[in-house]
Amino acid sequence: MIAIIRKDLLEGLLASARRKYPFEFFALLGGRKENNIVYLEEFYYIPWKEGYTHAIIDINHVPLHIMGSFHSHPTSSFPSPQDKTVFPFLGYVHLIAFPPFSLENVAAFNTEGKRIRLRVREPGT
Ligand SMILES: [Zn+2]
Repeated sequence: MIAIIRKDLLEGLLASARRKYPFEFFALLGGRKENNIVYLEEFYYIPWKEGYTHAIIDINHVPLHIMGSFHSHPTSSFPSPQDKTVFPFLGYVHLIAFPPFSLENVAAFNTEGKRIRLRVREPGT
């Protein structure tokens, strides 16, 4: 599976993660899936609270056509055990960003927490 995200969308998410640091920023990602390619094209904020180390979300508020999630970590991109528990409820691909939150500081994972390819797409291409 490959994830393709719009560059302006990813830049917006990274800016939010930077503002929220050292707390975590969390958003759900919408878009479409064609075979093994997931296109990430928009994001949704949903009600959530900050945990000590991780954002806690209410699964009942997850919109239906969700393709994945984005959240930030204060240190590394490695998915936590909690991340792997919620990933299967939140779509197909999951992005984790870490400081300094530039375009290189984001990794994509599948629902099992295995790293997958992330391609950043320029708008209009
Ligand atoms: Zn996490």
